[in-house]
Amino acid sequence: MSKTISVGIVGYGNLGRGVEAAIRQNPDLELKAIFTRRNAQSVVAGTATPMVSISDIEQYKGKIDVMILCGGSAKDLPEQGPALAKHFHTVDSFDTHALIPEYFEQVNDAATTNGHVSVISTGWDPGLFSLNRLLAEAILPEGKEYTFWGKGVSQGHSDAIRRVPGVKNGIQYTIPIEKAVESVRSGSEPKLSTREKHLRECYVALEEGADAEAVANEIKNMPNYFADYDTIVHIVSEETLKAEHSRMPHGGNVIRSGRTGPNKESTQVIEFGLKLDSNPEFTASVLVAYARAAYRLAQAGDKGAKSVFDIPFGLLSPKSPAELRKELL
Ligand code: NAP
Repeated sequence: MSKTISVGIVGYGNLGRGVEAAIRQNPDLELKAIFTRRNAQSVVAGTATPMVSISDIEQYKGKIDVMILCGGSAKDLPEQGPALAKHFHTVDSFDTHALIPEYFEQVNDAATTNGHVSVISTGWDPGLFSLNRLLAEAILPEGKEYTFWGKGVSQGHSDAIRRVPGVKNGIQYTIPIEKAVESVRSGSEPKLSTREKHLRECYVALEEGADAEAVANEIKNMPNYFADYDTIVHIVSEETLKAEHSRMPHGGNVIRSGRTGPNKESTQVIEFGLKLDSNPEFTASVLVAYARAAYRLAQAGDKGAKSVFDIPFGLLSPKSPAELRKELL
């Protein structure tokens, strides 16, 4: 086997813990250190890996091949992505879709100037879903693409619920509407409104004395988050919330249907689906495979920011091209 790739984790939240676990399933990768902005002594790793203050990260130049950035997309990555691409090859899961072009440019400047490879915005969406949107569109240029998310927890919508006065804690599930999914699968290329594609279901624990109906109304009518959807609000106890709703499942489907043939008489449907018990653990598994690819690109002399569209699939696998041709082609 070729050299072990040494990896660092930057930021130790759900995703960071997921990466720590995923690296253990990949014998060609070795976790060297975890970096945190908090007091390193106060953060306990799930393995015997050293927990290091992020202020010491530059001491690891030359010792760590790829840094996997596990900070949040809203505040952490816009700062950490470009800053760390100056010193290391990096991989991240930046998922604010509208800002990806701008983020790419910033990371690209830092990575290119310093001879590093930085894979941005990988995971499942953006990430594996993006790849499947591209693949399906390239193959069926005349057609229609649909992405359904869920059933799964939306962090953004859960945060929005928790900001409503009277709410002690809450969680929101995004649920695809089965009738819509089936009509897309049939190849009929339906026109679907926002409300017809997804349903939003909320589980909410109230502050003492809060008015349940007022809280439910405020949630259901919240612009941008809930007003365009059918929303169900369940009032539950905090214990129920903890016992039954503390996991982070997610998933979804990317479906494209199109028509081919001289008279476009053939209907073709391409579908990619995910059903995830744990969103952060799965996202972490994707990041780890892309860390291997980033390292190999860098070894081959490449540099700059890359999205999933720029990376050959074979580089994700620990197997050699010959093994891949024999076993998987
Ligand atoms: P998170 O748990 O909130 O962690 C984000 C950062 O917050 C951590 O890196 C950590 O940095 C800090 N942190 C974590 N726990 C803390 C605590 N108890 N006290 C103080 N600080 C704490 O977020 P996450 O669930 O790991 O998600 C990270 C990002 O992944 C999301 O923002 C999202 O953009 C992205 N994501 C992408 C995809 C995709 O498909 N592309 C899918 C899922 C998620 P320090 O250790 O430095 O303090």
